[in-house]
Amino acid sequence: MSDQIIRALAPGVRLVAAITTELVEAARTRHDCSPVATAALGRTMTAALLLSETIKGDECLTIRISGNGPLGDVVADTPLRHGVRGYVRNPQIDLPLTEKGKLAVGEAVGDGMLHVTRFSPQREIFTGTVKLISGEIAEDVTRYLLESEQTPSTVGLGVLVDPDGSVAGAAGFLVQAMPDVTEEVLSAIELNLSLVASPSHLAQEGLSASDLIRLLLVGIESATLFEPEPIRFQCTCNREKVGAILTGLGPEELESMVEEGQAEIHCNFCNEAYRFEREELQELQRKGPQATGEAE
Ligand SMILES: [Zn+2]
Repeated sequence: MSDQIIRALAPGVRLVAAITTELVEAARTRHDCSPVATAALGRTMTAALLLSETIKGDECLTIRISGNGPLGDVVADTPLRHGVRGYVRNPQIDLPLTEKGKLAVGEAVGDGMLHVTRFSPQREIFTGTVKLISGEIAEDVTRYLLESEQTPSTVGLGVLVDPDGSVAGAAGFLVQAMPDVTEEVLSAIELNLSLVASPSHLAQEGLSASDLIRLLLVGIESATLFEPEPIRFQCTCNREKVGAILTGLGPEELESMVEEGQAEIHCNFCNEAYRFEREELQELQRKGPQATGEAE
């Protein structure tokens, strides 16, 4: 099933569900991630997409998980609506499975903080920070929503990695209770959570985002489902922005690149390689510092 995200409203409850198998696989191949890195990055990218559905249309969102584990920072952001990109600092780190046979995401992330920044094209709007509970990401995001946004929520995130390292299924959901939610709706959703306990397996079985959200709404009447929307791995880097960053490094740095005869820069977020030959570097020297685009 292709990657999609869908929202729904039930009395006193807001829901979002997403299938993210293809975009997590795209991130894995771009960054050459180990299974545990794929799971950590995939869960974080899925969480960023889910949270981005709870903010205003022109706002964007970044999740940065800064743990002291071997993976280093895990970062995901939504530079454009329905597009997500991300990276993990040490994508090749691998660890043995946990005693339960699961990928050791919590151990790979370690102790630390989770930061969520919301920004509009013009300015930063809000940054919330919470201490990581487990580094498993879903419960860390749940804590962030409760402590920083005062919204009681349930978050489920899953990435299933095949023995060959590719992504077999990835998905997530978010349920947020409003102050006017009834006991009846809450207990129905609580029961339904067992149906979606493993969203990555549901994605592997071919369920769509709509199927996933319907499972959460079993027994609840008068729910409104919105149209599912396609989502994708999407970066906003380009040669012009990378050139502006090179210029921003300063004249001496640029001069040493000209002397070397070339420079190759990789975008952090998508690992795209930008190669600049001597003539282009000299052209950047001539143009001099210019307004830099966003830092990639
Ligand atoms: Zn990029």
